[in-house]
Amino acid sequence: MTDRNGQPQQQPSPVSTPWQVPWPTGTIARYWTVAGATVDVTKTEDGDFRRYDVKCTGCPHEDSSRIGDNAHTSAQAHAERCRALPRPVAGQ
Ligand SMILES: [Zn+2]
Repeated sequence: MTDRNGQPQQQPSPVSTPWQVPWPTGTIARYWTVAGATVDVTKTEDGDFRRYDVKCTGCPHEDSSRIGDNAHTSAQAHAERCRALPRPVAGQ
């Protein structure tokens, strides 16, 4: 099956696929929300001090923790709930 340009027909691709965009510096994990935004976990390290920041790209939600597991759990939990749409890249 081909379209009028002779190209194989493909399923329409999703508007935003987080694994195709470069991750911001320091991002160690990224959770995809039900609405297609991402919840990013970034790590800040300064000597013995470590901090993990959780930030949603769809809404103003932010969280931070000194414990990595807690940050991941928080990000996962928010990604399951958040229905805010990501802002289009061109509008940033
Ligand atoms: Zn959110």
